[in-house]
Amino acid sequence: MLEINGLSTGYDAIDVLEDITITAPPGELTVILGANGSGKSTLFRTVSGLLRARRGSITFEGRELTRARASAIVRAGIAQAPEGRHLFARMSVEKNLTLGAYTHHRDAGRIREGLERVFALFPILADKRKDPAGSLSGGQQQMVAIGRALMADPKLLVLDEPSIGLAPLVTAEVMDAVKRVNESGIAVLLAEQNARLALRIAHSAYVLSEGRVVQSGAAAGLMENEDVRAAYLGV
Ligand code: ATP
Repeated sequence: MLEINGLSTGYDAIDVLEDITITAPPGELTVILGANGSGKSTLFRTVSGLLRARRGSITFEGRELTRARASAIVRAGIAQAPEGRHLFARMSVEKNLTLGAYTHHRDAGRIREGLERVFALFPILADKRKDPAGSLSGGQQQMVAIGRALMADPKLLVLDEPSIGLAPLVTAEVMDAVKRVNESGIAVLLAEQNARLALRIAHSAYVLSEGRVVQSGAAAGLMENEDVRAAYLGV
């Protein structure tokens, strides 16, 4: 479904990603592990069309998206919830969600369908739909950020460190929410620093280090991998 092939990119004179090859299959949850600065956000910005690839290609369902605009990429079925939640704190939960639909469709019926889809996945947001987003807990705000991306009705949801700044218990709650999204049939590409929790919900994983893929494979296998255990699981 999403095929990233030999991708290199960076900022100004600096190459950050080197020859990245990653596949995110339909319906699967693919996780990208890596320390701070390993290039996860740079990779996701490139997938979402916010940063240009220098070499290599990105295709989605066979369509060439390497140089497509961000809006065309959303229409092709890839929606991203960027790192940091970027909610409008004083606007209601519902209004924040509705804003997520605007790049894709403004049709009232489809917006209603989108809201129903999000509320079915995250019932707590239905209860709080009229509350200001800023009054929700950190985990709930992250659900709003994920929900906003889901309003575009994506086939692939790209999530950049949804657990950032959250307490461990809340991180587990967010990972559970991500799992539910995936179980509803949406493929997920997830960047995460909490390797243990991420590998538990993922089908496959890639480890990035200094802009390169240094490990990859089935999530269960990587959980047993000595290097991964030493570097990311603290064992
Ligand atoms: P984090 O977990 O901190 O978000 P990351 O794995 O997502 O880390 P990136 O944010 O992709 O890593 O950063 C990869 C490298 O690119 C780092 O060395 C960083 O300093 C550099 N970098 C990121 N953004 C820019 C930018 N706008 N201009 C120049 N260099 C950048």
